[in-house]
Amino acid sequence: MTETFTPPTAFAVPGRIAVSGQAAVTWQRAVLTDIRRETPLVSTFRFAVPGWQGHLPGQHLMLRLTAQDGYVAQRHYSLASPPDDSGHIELTLDHVEGGEVSGYLHTIARIGDEVEVRGPLSGFFAWPGDRPALLIGAGSGVVPLMSMVRHHRLLRLPVPLRLFVSARTREDLIYADEYRDETTPLLTREGEQRRLAADHLAPCFTHGAPEWEAYVCGSNAFAEHASRLLVDLGQPVDRIRIERFG
Ligand SMILES: Cc1cc2nc3c(=O)[nH]c(=O)nc-3n(C[C@H](O)[C@H](O)[C@H](O)COP(=O)(O)OP(=O)(O)OC[C@H]3O[C@@H](n4cnc5c(N)ncnc54)[C@H](O)[C@@H]3O)c2cc1C
Repeated sequence: MTETFTPPTAFAVPGRIAVSGQAAVTWQRAVLTDIRRETPLVSTFRFAVPGWQGHLPGQHLMLRLTAQDGYVAQRHYSLASPPDDSGHIELTLDHVEGGEVSGYLHTIARIGDEVEVRGPLSGFFAWPGDRPALLIGAGSGVVPLMSMVRHHRLLRLPVPLRLFVSARTREDLIYADEYRDETTPLLTREGEQRRLAADHLAPCFTHGAPEWEAYVCGSNAFAEHASRLLVDLGQPVDRIRIERFG
C-alpha cells in the first residue's frame, strides 16, 4: 500500500455507520493525548474518547484513518487499558515494517490528532474478572491480557490470575516494569529453554489448582503451541479462548 495519510486536520468527520443507540456500531472521535514508548518497536497511544461506553478487559476495537482524498484504512486493536471512567482508552501497537496504520501512528501522529474508533467489539475474549484466569501471550499478544491484569489489580479481585508472557529479549518485553509476582516472563533469545514449555505451565495444574479459564493471544504459531500445551496438561478445550493477531 503506497498511500500516505495527510495530517489529521484533514480527517473526515466521524459519522454514524449503522443503528444509532448502539455504541459498538458507531464511529467515535478519539483524540490522541499521550504516546508512551514501551520498547524500541512498540508504543502505547492514549486517546480521549468522550463517548466511550466502557469495555471488558480482553475486548478490542476498530480504528479508522481517513485520508484527505477519502482513502480509508481500518484495523483491529486490543484495548490495553482496564475499564475505568477516565474517558480515555489506551492501545499498544507494534510498529509493523511497511504497515500502513501502525506506521502512521508510530511516525506521523502527534498529540491532539484525531482518529476514529468503533467498539468495544467481541465478547468472546473478554474476561469480566469473575473466574480464575490463566493468561498466555507472546509479543503484542500481551496487550489484551494486560488489560485483564490491570483490571485485576485495580479492583483487587480475589480470583487467582497468572500471566505467562513471551518476548525475544528483555528489551522487547512490553510493559516490563509492570509485572509482579503474577507474571512469568519468557525471553526466547536469552538463556536456554525459554520457549514456553509444559514445565512452565505445569505448576498451574497441580492437585487442587484453580479451574482456569485460559486466554491465549499471539501469532497463529504461538496460539497453536500454547493451546496444545494446555490441552496436554488437562485444560478443557472449551475453556481455552484464543485471539490471533496474525
Ligand atoms: C482482534 C485483533 C486485535 C489486535 N490487536 C493488536 C494490538 O493490540 N496491537 C498490535 O500491534 N496489533 C494488533 N492487531 C494487529 C493489527 O490489527 C494490524 O494487523 C497491525 O497493526 C498491522 O497493521 P498495519 O496497517 O500497520 O500493517 P498493514 O498495512 O496491514 O501491513 C501488514 C504487513 O503486510 C505488508 N503488506 C501490506 N500490504 C502489502 C502488499 N500489498 N504486498 C505485500 N505486503 C504487504 C506490510 O509490509 C506489513 O508487513 C490485532 C489484530 C486483531 C485481529
